[in-house]
Amino acid sequence: MSDTIEKVKCLIIGSGPAGYTAAIYAARANMSPVLYQGTQPGGQLTTTNEVENFPGYPDGVTGPEMMIQLENQAKRFDTDVRNGWITKVDFSGDIHKVWVNEEKEIHADTIIISTGASAKYLGLESEQKYLKLGGGVSACAVCDGFFYRNQEVVIVGAGDSACEEAHYLSKLCKKVTMLVRKDEFRASKIMATRVKNTENIDILFNTETDEVLGDGQVVTGVRVKNNQTQDTHEIPVTGFFVAIGHKPNTDIFKGFINLDETGYIKYEQPGTSKTNVPGVFVSGDAADHVYRQAITAAGTGCMAALDAERYLAAKDATFEVSTPTY
Ligand code: NDP
Repeated sequence: MSDTIEKVKCLIIGSGPAGYTAAIYAARANMSPVLYQGTQPGGQLTTTNEVENFPGYPDGVTGPEMMIQLENQAKRFDTDVRNGWITKVDFSGDIHKVWVNEEKEIHADTIIISTGASAKYLGLESEQKYLKLGGGVSACAVCDGFFYRNQEVVIVGAGDSACEEAHYLSKLCKKVTMLVRKDEFRASKIMATRVKNTENIDILFNTETDEVLGDGQVVTGVRVKNNQTQDTHEIPVTGFFVAIGHKPNTDIFKGFINLDETGYIKYEQPGTSKTNVPGVFVSGDAADHVYRQAITAAGTGCMAALDAERYLAAKDATFEVSTPTY
């Protein structure tokens, strides 16, 4: 443990669009934000190839490139961007305490949680290989579906997300094959019915992914297995979508911040970024299981910085709320 405790006005945890947007606003409001990037600097977008739905990029931009630009924009206003992983927090008292890499202790007047969520994958070696290559594996139909226009794709999952994404893909793709591991959907009736009634969605129940097939660069098909008969067969596709849920990265906040049953942070006051702990705010996918888009994460990052600024101003008469630059 280090002996010196650092004091900061605004600590931002996470480096996706939510965290960097919060940093840009907090820095421009004289809050001298310190941002810890976590283990995946840039967040989920760094695993996305082309981003075509973020306003302001008419020709699209790669996920990693966009995150570098956001980081540079945050640094331009003197955000202190650091490598490091927040391993522990203590929000039980008036002072918000966090520990970095089990060692360094920081006391922050305000905290903005932007730790995001991680898409779950099956974990097959072949799936991970083509995911890393950017060669046809995706966990976001809204982000990547467009690249598979008029092509045939597979989607794994049976919940509301899988149904929603299958339906979304069906409007772009020639054919969508849905792999459901049980003999029924988990999704709500209305979502399942919509999928069942869509002509170009083929549903295979009791079916699991045996292997994602490819030519070494891109996906060319999927070998599937019926878990009742053990029969396998191959489906030629160019895209393999996984929609088996997300895990919000909120474990370290358990016991201090109110979470829902899946682990998403609950807003204390809808329409704001406030959590149940005064001075601790949340932005991005750590609290959002519905929209999960870069642009909505950025929007809530802005909200969190504004809420943090107002919290500081209310607490400390000497802290001046910046004249609106927003
Ligand atoms: P869910 O946890 O609800 O569903 C995950 C699905 O993935 C399940 O059907 C599960 O199968 C399947 N699955 C998990 N692991 C595997 C695996 N290894 N192989 C194959 N299949 C697997 O996650 P969602 O993201 O769908 O939804 C999360 C929450 O968000 C839910 O509360 C949902 O209602 C909500 N939501 C609401 C929407 C809306 O109202 N418009 C849209 C999207 C989400 P099994 O059933 O066999 O366990």
